Amino acid sequence: MQVKIENPLCRVPVSMILDDSCPLVNLSHFWIKLREKRSTADMPVEIPESFARKFGEWCAEQGVKGKFSFVPMPGGLGTIDLGLPGFSKAHLDEWIDAAKETIWPNFDFTPEMITHCQVVDLSDWTMTDEWEQSEWAERPIPAEVLGPYIAAALRILHNIDIPAEGVTSPGAFGSADLNAYGEAALQAQKEVNGNPTPFFFCEVEEKALAYPKLYSLDKEKGECCVGIVAGTGDWFAGWEGNNRGAIHSPDMCITEDLQGGRMPELIAAGCPAVMVSHWPGFYFQGEEIGFNIFKTVVGRLNQLPNIIWMKTSEIARYWMAREMAKIEAAEDGCRIWSPIPCPSFTLRLSRARQADWRVNGKPLREVSDPLSLQPGRWARHGEDIVLAFDLRSGKTTVSA
Ligand SMILES: [Zn+2]
Repeated sequence: MQVKIENPLCRVPVSMILDDSCPLVNLSHFWIKLREKRSTADMPVEIPESFARKFGEWCAEQGVKGKFSFVPMPGGLGTIDLGLPGFSKAHLDEWIDAAKETIWPNFDFTPEMITHCQVVDLSDWTMTDEWEQSEWAERPIPAEVLGPYIAAALRILHNIDIPAEGVTSPGAFGSADLNAYGEAALQAQKEVNGNPTPFFFCEVEEKALAYPKLYSLDKEKGECCVGIVAGTGDWFAGWEGNNRGAIHSPDMCITEDLQGGRMPELIAAGCPAVMVSHWPGFYFQGEEIGFNIFKTVVGRLNQLPNIIWMKTSEIARYWMAREMAKIEAAEDGCRIWSPIPCPSFTLRLSRARQADWRVNGKPLREVSDPLSLQPGRWARHGEDIVLAFDLRSGKTTVSA
């Protein structure tokens, strides 16, 4: 009998990444002022709590999952755990509480490094002349320097009771040496959150397949940092939040007949299909242009029969479990050893004729087809059977 790991519940993961979503402040306002030295007097300083709440509630209704950035020291203003000068602490905390209540159940929260602007000198928390997304993107930064920097970012979220599951790059931060980035992110996560299975988001791949990548993988210890790769560009309404030239058609992601666009292409290949956009473009000075495009895209995606919305941390976990799990086929099923647990772990047993499938002695229930799988169920599929269960760490026996 041959055993193969399938996509979770025989469905293709889809996910939405929101970047530049600071608590409260409109990052573009500060970024453009600092970086381009332009006046941003015509750009809103805040993106209100009401919009965060509206977005979170809509995503929950539609089953949308993904990742949402919390910039820990947006524009170098101040840190979000202690407060942002010029904004009342109560006002900031209301925003954070609304995001925790409505968005967090379905999205990972990650820092997008520290300021999303200049690199901070950790000895006195002043901004240096280097930029997180320029010098620290173009020049390889050794893990010994990157690790404490990422840990400082994670600690600010930890202080507001957010054990961030991963980290996000502002721009291409860390891209000059992704191995060092993966190693640094893993060390920082172990130190701050006790998390040996984190992820980072840095890369965008608009043409080729965009599978997650594994860094610093240790199959015995069950440690790894996964690089999540977005499969689209920001094909919503851009990052600035007021640039009408950046407005895209929803067809770029998926056409109305559900056949065309980048997402069906990735989904047909069985590759996780991860979209990316920016919070100021979603809000678009209150016109909500990016958000409206996203609503159309989600309405189309949700008509596809074979997708599963996942947080980026859930995709990361599934892809590392795929590599870490040791599977030995047996006469009547298989034996698995895994250093980490993994929900909705799904296997295909080729030419398995038997019925009455069990995992660790516990019977699974048969369902009519692979797309009806849930953990604890199995289905016939041609000559094969597929089965799904929540994999635990240690030994698992699948038998008939
Ligand atoms: Zn960003």
